[in-house]
Amino acid sequence: MIEIIIAAIFVFALFLLIYSALSSGKAKEIKTKYRIPEGKITYTDLDKPAKALYSRRFNLAGKPDYIVKRDGSYIPVEVKDTNAGWPYDSHIMQLASYCLLLEDSGKKVPFGLLAYNNGQFKIPFDDGIRNRIKGILETIRNEIRSGKVERNHSQPNRCINCSLRKFCEFRLS
Ligand code: SF4
Repeated sequence: MIEIIIAAIFVFALFLLIYSALSSGKAKEIKTKYRIPEGKITYTDLDKPAKALYSRRFNLAGKPDYIVKRDGSYIPVEVKDTNAGWPYDSHIMQLASYCLLLEDSGKKVPFGLLAYNNGQFKIPFDDGIRNRIKGILETIRNEIRSGKVERNHSQPNRCINCSLRKFCEFRLS
């Protein structure tokens, strides 16, 4: 009987060892693939859909790809499956909105990261960026209140993959 118990404990320990090795390998693979910086990953929307961050004050919701906690600070990471020689302004503002959401929940957010296929850009969340994203949100709110919302481009390609396409009366494709 004792041999069976010892064998069962051995098998269970082996299972834990293999599971832990596989898990850590997977975590490493994801971190490498998306170039996630060192620190504790406290949120990810990549493996499975996560709950959106929400700010009542700014009436804003959003889901960054990752949030990394490091030295008491929180760093939102947005992954873009494309190459870029410089960070696109629309991506910077998207990242800034995540920084704002985190900051509004009481977190310290010194910067965010844009991760492209060919490299990363560290985007400081300073007063300049903070004020810009707040200004954009204010403009959006004012336009919605005025009832005069209009399309600001003439590029059908932008509409093809737009998440609002189904509801948008201005769509081009
Ligand atoms: S579908 Fe509408 S909201 Fe989306 S990109 Fe086109 S015009 Fe803009």
